[in-house]
This record gives sequence, C-alpha cells and structure tokens, in this order.
Amino acid sequence: MAFILGVDIGGTDIKLGIVDEAASKPAARELVSGTIPTRAGEGPERAAARVRAWCDGQGASRVEAAGIACAGLIDGRRGLLHVSPNLGGWVDAPLRDLFERALGVPAVVENDANAAAYGEWRAGAGRGLSSFVCLTLGTGVGGGIVLGGSLYRGATGFAGEIGHAVICADGPPCACGNRGCLEALIGARAIVRRARELYGASGGARAEPAAGRSPEELARAAARGDEVAARVFAETGRYLGIALANIVHILAPEAIAVGGGVAGAGEILFGPARETLRRSVMDDRMAEVRVVPAELGNRAAVLGSALLAHAEAAGAR
Ligand SMILES: [Zn+2]
Repeated sequence: MAFILGVDIGGTDIKLGIVDEAASKPAARELVSGTIPTRAGEGPERAAARVRAWCDGQGASRVEAAGIACAGLIDGRRGLLHVSPNLGGWVDAPLRDLFERALGVPAVVENDANAAAYGEWRAGAGRGLSSFVCLTLGTGVGGGIVLGGSLYRGATGFAGEIGHAVICADGPPCACGNRGCLEALIGARAIVRRARELYGASGGARAEPAAGRSPEELARAAARGDEVAARVFAETGRYLGIALANIVHILAPEAIAVGGGVAGAGEILFGPARETLRRSVMDDRMAEVRVVPAELGNRAAVLGSALLAHAEAAGAR
C-alpha cells in the first residue's frame, strides 16, 4: 500500500496527515495526523525540513507523494506561492521544489481553499458530483471550484477567490485593498467587529460579555436566545446568500458546501443564506442548488492536498 502526505501550512501551525492511496473511497480518513509550528519567519526551507522530520518520526518512509496547501495566490503549474496573507516574506516561494528536495518525493502545491474543496469533492460533501463549489469561512473566506470532474484553477491558477467577490461596493475595506468583499463582510473579524458595535449600541455588552470575542462565542450566545448575536448571524447569512446567488448565476453548480469555523453556527447562518439565495436568483429553479455544511472539518485541506497529490502522481504514471 502507498501512502501520501498532506500538508496544510497556516500562519501559526502546519497540519500534517498521512493518507493511504485508497483514500478516494468515501470512508477515507487520515491514518496519522499531527501539527507542528509554522515559524514563518524562519522561511519555507526550514518549514519543509521540519515537515520531513515529522514524517521521519512517523516511520513513514513509504510516502510516495506530497500535497502542500497554504493560503494565498498559488501558481500550481510552476509550484510557486506568489504571495500569502499569513506567511509574510514567503513571496514567489518555490514551494514545490523546496518540498520535493526535503521529502524526496513528487509534490503538488495548491491554495488551501482549493485543496479543501477538492477534499470535500473526493471524500466529503461533494462526493460524486461533477460541479461543486466549496466555501471556507474563517478569518479569511476561501473558495474552491470543481467543474467537469476536476479542480478549476483558471488561466492564472488563482481561480476560486470567492472571498474577494465584491458584495457591497461601498462596504468595509478588505485586506486585499478593495471594499465590500465577502471576506470583509463575513470573515471572522468582520463578524466580531459588527457584534461589538451592536452590543455597544444596544448597551447589551454587559449581558453577553463573552459573545463579542469570536464567531463561536457569538453562535453560542445566539443559541441561548441573545438577540444581538442572532441579528449578526442573520446579517452574515444574508451576505453569504448574496454570494451564493452570484455563484449560482455564474456556475450553476449541483451543490455548494460551506465549511470553516464560522459555518459551525449552523442553521442560524444557513437559514438566512438559503432564504436570500432563493429570493436573489433569476428563476426558482436556480435555487434548487443544494447548500450544505462541509463534512471534513478543519482537516479538509490536509486530506484534499494529499488526494490531489495522489491524483497527479497517478496521472503522471
Ligand atoms: Zn478582498
């Protein structure tokens, strides 16, 4: 049996997993998983060496390929990370070459949200579909698109940046330099900021002192009946619904999965999102797209990058 390594490089931690080559089967999960610190300031070469050390520690000498995922603009064909919001200084970093050298096996490099979408398509919420979109809602808002049975990367490799689709032209500034991007409206920081503003305005901050700290706390407050928290998620769901309608108008996929920490809020988010989608599309039939929670949790990019590496290695054979 062959094993494939999946690597998800975040700003703080690197998530790692070893997946067996039969992982395309629905029950596929990682055989071994772990986390090591990123220490981005030390540069990508040192990170690749630490990943190698972790692999050696698992006795995984039979790893046959590696998938490397991280946030940012990735040119997968050249194996380059162009620029990343989380990895300062990793500019035009030749991640594929660095990891191939460190690990001694073929590597593929992919945007983390694309890898997560691929993972969900192969082993999660998008199984068996030929057109599928996956959104990951966290500090950043990422997207990935599967069309005609393969990951769609576009002419540049940068396709799927749904988090930077403009939802509200005069909206709040986004880290990318635009205003009113989906990420600037429903990223974790935007949710927390809006909650604090509303608690401040309503004098309710004392009633729910913890709720304004994170989307997760806010979701718990909403579940306890906190009106401000419920209002924030209703608004968040509405913005999400507008984005879903845009996706449907452009791609008309069979399903859209929504994952990431913010999506953990569940129906208080999905309900208003589906309702807005229904009201926003040109024709009722367009609203028949399934909008579902993602299934693989925060390991989607690890599993997806490994499955992608395996598929590319198989294609090259
Ligand atoms: Zn943006």
